[in-house]
Amino acid sequence: MKAVRFHEHGGPEVLRYEDAPDPAPATGRAVVRIRACALNHLDLWERRGLDRVRLPLPHISGADIAGEIVDSGGGPLPAGTRVMLQPGLRCGRCRACAEGRDNQCVEYDVLGLRSDGGYAELVSVPVENLIALPDHIDVVAAAAFPLTFLTAWHMLITRAALRAGEVVLVLAGASGVGQAAIQLARHFDARVFATSAPAKAERTRALGAEHVFDHYSGDYAKEVKRLTDGRGADIVVEHVGEVTWDRSVRALATGGRLVTCGATTGHEARIDLRHLFARQLSLLGSYMGRFAELREAAPLFFSGQLHPRIDTTFPLREAAAAQRRLEDKEQFGKIVLTV
Ligand SMILES: [Zn+2]
Repeated sequence: MKAVRFHEHGGPEVLRYEDAPDPAPATGRAVVRIRACALNHLDLWERRGLDRVRLPLPHISGADIAGEIVDSGGGPLPAGTRVMLQPGLRCGRCRACAEGRDNQCVEYDVLGLRSDGGYAELVSVPVENLIALPDHIDVVAAAAFPLTFLTAWHMLITRAALRAGEVVLVLAGASGVGQAAIQLARHFDARVFATSAPAKAERTRALGAEHVFDHYSGDYAKEVKRLTDGRGADIVVEHVGEVTWDRSVRALATGGRLVTCGATTGHEARIDLRHLFARQLSLLGSYMGRFAELREAAPLFFSGQLHPRIDTTFPLREAAAAQRRLEDKEQFGKIVLTV
């Protein structure tokens, strides 16, 4: 098969479009002919090299995949079925897996992290990772759905236990997770505020945010309080990190929950413990999501109630150009490789 691989860590120039071995058929694992693979920031970190994870080289990135089954692996879905893939990988044997907390699995992994992913014509995945697509769902949209909506679902619904009528502040609302969080919060009848760069504010508002604040300048914590009669946000969805942390904590209402899945601007944060206990705040960490959660979210996508926005598509061989666009932060919506 053709694949985009890197043999050493570095800039986008290390990505090579080349021949790679086809994945071997195996019982319990399906082989999927990839039609589309969406980019995530995870792909950039893999290419640059991660502190804590040593990747097998050469490596094929790509966690968000849609295509069709070419080998069923003995699973219930026959060859030819159009599918999108659950991006999480679990052992299926540990206590967390048995209790349905599979993103806490002792061997939890993400497609394209330690295993080969979707920057290729073919991929091998456990049959339990296959989710059949209805005919009207396009593969590009299907590839753009799983990772960000799964992450946002786990943050808002499972970790922060969102209730209708609550105030949700979504940091970096124009990002993949941000866009998904705005749509989900609106779907569950929350009142939504967001932050973004000024150039993306209008499009972020169109996703369902009542107000969009500039997160580079100004004090959005003060603004959220002003717009909620001094109360603040019940839930803050964070993934920006160091630069916004202080304002995000201050934006919380008494009893508020801050849920974070990332730290793109740095991971050194401090907190005044008096605020934590006196205002009864909860700080919640979140990483990816569970198999059951993606199966719960998928019907809302299939029925058109949630829709991933597509920024641009690139042919697989232009993966380096696609990653440059993601690095330049010019995109609004997902960047998708078509195969
Ligand atoms: Zn497990």
